[in-house]
Amino acid sequence: MADVKGVSMIRLTYRPHAHCIGSSADGGCTWERHATVTVTAATVRSEAQQHVKATGHSVFVDIIDRTDYAPEVTP
Ligand SMILES: [Zn+2]
Repeated sequence: MADVKGVSMIRLTYRPHAHCIGSSADGGCTWERHATVTVTAATVRSEAQQHVKATGHSVFVDIIDRTDYAPEVTP
């Protein structure tokens, strides 16, 4: 049995993306945001909320968050 010294963690967040689904009154809104190197997932969420406040539209924010826990073993 391996001698587990600890647990390593790799956390990945994939392609945070927000898109507006518009409103029943004026569908067809094309607002959307993608996270980039300079635009974080937090920024995407913040801008989505601002868009909702400004327009009364509904916005979906999709962020896939994966965490990989692995044993750290003695060589
Ligand atoms: Zn919109």
